[in-house]
Amino acid sequence: VQRLGFGSADVEQPAPLQAVRLPPPRVESPYSSSVADRIRHAYGRSYPDTIRALRGHFEHPPDAVAFPASEVEIEAALEWAASANVAVIPYGGGTSVVGGVEPIVPDRFDGVLSLDLSRMKRVLEVDEVSRSALIEAGANGPELERQLATRGLTMRFYPQSFELASLGGMIATRAGGHFATLQTHIDELVQAIRAIAPAGEWESRRLPGSGAGPAPDRLLIGSEGTLGVIASAWMRVRARPASRASRAVAFDSFAVGAEAVRVLSQSGLNPSNCRLVDGLEAEMTGLGDGGGALLVLGFESGDDGYPVQALLTRALAICAAHGGRAEPPAGTPAGTADASRSGGEPSRRDGSPAGSPAPGGDPNGGGHDAVSGWRAAFLAMPYLRDALVQCGVLCDTFETAVTWERFPAFHESVLTATRESLPQPRRVSCRLTHVYADGPAPYYTVLAPARRGHELEQWQAMKVTASDAILAGGGTITHHHAVGRDHMPWYERQRPQPFALALSAAKSALDPAGILNPGVLIG
Ligand SMILES: Cc1cc2nc3c(=O)[nH]c(=O)nc-3n(C[C@H](O)[C@H](O)[C@H](O)COP(=O)(O)OP(=O)(O)OC[C@H]3O[C@@H](n4cnc5c(N)ncnc54)[C@H](O)[C@@H]3O)c2cc1C
Repeated sequence: VQRLGFGSADVEQPAPLQAVRLPPPRVESPYSSSVADRIRHAYGRSYPDTIRALRGHFEHPPDAVAFPASEVEIEAALEWAASANVAVIPYGGGTSVVGGVEPIVPDRFDGVLSLDLSRMKRVLEVDEVSRSALIEAGANGPELERQLATRGLTMRFYPQSFELASLGGMIATRAGGHFATLQTHIDELVQAIRAIAPAGEWESRRLPGSGAGPAPDRLLIGSEGTLGVIASAWMRVRARPASRASRAVAFDSFAVGAEAVRVLSQSGLNPSNCRLVDGLEAEMTGLGDGGGALLVLGFESGDDGYPVQALLTRALAICAAHGGRAEPPAGTPAGTADASRSGGEPSRRDGSPAGSPAPGGDPNGGGHDAVSGWRAAFLAMPYLRDALVQCGVLCDTFETAVTWERFPAFHESVLTATRESLPQPRRVSCRLTHVYADGPAPYYTVLAPARRGHELEQWQAMKVTASDAILAGGGTITHHHAVGRDHMPWYERQRPQPFALALSAAKSALDPAGILNPGVLIG
């Protein structure tokens, strides 16, 4: 709060659980209707979710929560729900930031069942020859990485919500991980899916690739709980990284840094980490004075002979040609390879999953270089965010993707519109989280003084303004946070109408009673 210059030292305490009043469950079910379970499944983790939960406001809790331990139990829950005219919301880690798990459903339903997959968390089978693993959908990041590590393997997919997000949730939302190029979304790691739809079981064939018509998995990846309950998936796994090299590069401005990133993204070098952070965001994380921009650049490979250092050297030369100044790697003699550091992914130095707010190669013990600093901030942000909300700071993020030729004007208009929708003094910062040869995925962080008691209106005004600007500028309403309930108006505007019809038809075929997550994706 001191660094921000706004917010209050008067830290708002969460409403005590005993003080929370819930509407009584509307249906009797064979599942849990305990207050704690209903509260825990009432929201995801967006800013409006956090504010409402903090104040103890739970207007739409689920009426019941089921915890299936097997596919048979998922089927039973779907059958019960269909017979009782109850909507079903698949629930993984509950980290949705777009209203994906909030039980707001049309009035025609007699209730809502939250279907929590957290008991289904095993790695069921590993195929070491084809480097793939069959993993149950409820496994969260640390859980699946722990089990894969016993076989010397890793999925190496680290969204910032890694500690809580489940495999099923990541697939259902087309999550974005830490790889800044190539395998940016979970899509690329999915080999085959097993799902339970009200119309029956769904199992796709395990294939490295296929040209047999539209890919079945593509219908379920990103389906956000509307077409079936993902029960397990065969995922492409890999060896743990054996070689890594990383460096931070300073630029005089975000625009100049973005131009360097464009050239890098079209160079074929495909860095595993390539995050351009603007000066404001860098300053918030304790890196720099608020000016210029910082590029966190990294390469990694499971092959210990992979020329990561040579690739980094070439990437640094591209940056230098755009005025980029490579920062010296901390803790290593000048001029030596920085091969012991990770490429900026949020894992511990030993490769084990991130399990605490500040792991990541011991950024505090191993030196204060910018790469470690950025990683530590990346890991701490989810925890810091909740604390900021309690201090009266409106704190949110949104993300998009846009083609390079549009990016400069797009960025300017989104930044300006978002700033103007917020009270002074506000901070709207940006980083490029993922990059493609044809465009970046900008990720905006919004911090502003909240008017206590009016946060939801303030947030809504900002959200509408920013989302309108994104669509007007030619971007997508989401690059990896998903659509949920919050992005529906803009999603409906951006998708082709015949596609909306095709999606509705698929929904009718797979979920004839329309009980699965109604209100999301299909209007
Ligand atoms: C602090 C923070 C950081 C984040 N960072 C990232 C990030 O780096 N990258 C990113 O992509 N996202 C990020 N997110 C958003 C969120 O973590 C992702 O959308 C994540 O993939 C959701 O997984 P989950 O298991 O928590 O799903 P949930 O929130 O439980 O559900 C999300 C959606 O998926 C559906 N769903 C869940 N499980 C299943 C299933 N088994 N079958 C069918 N449908 C299912 C739900 O119905 C819902 O529509 C972040 C969120 C937070 C709070």
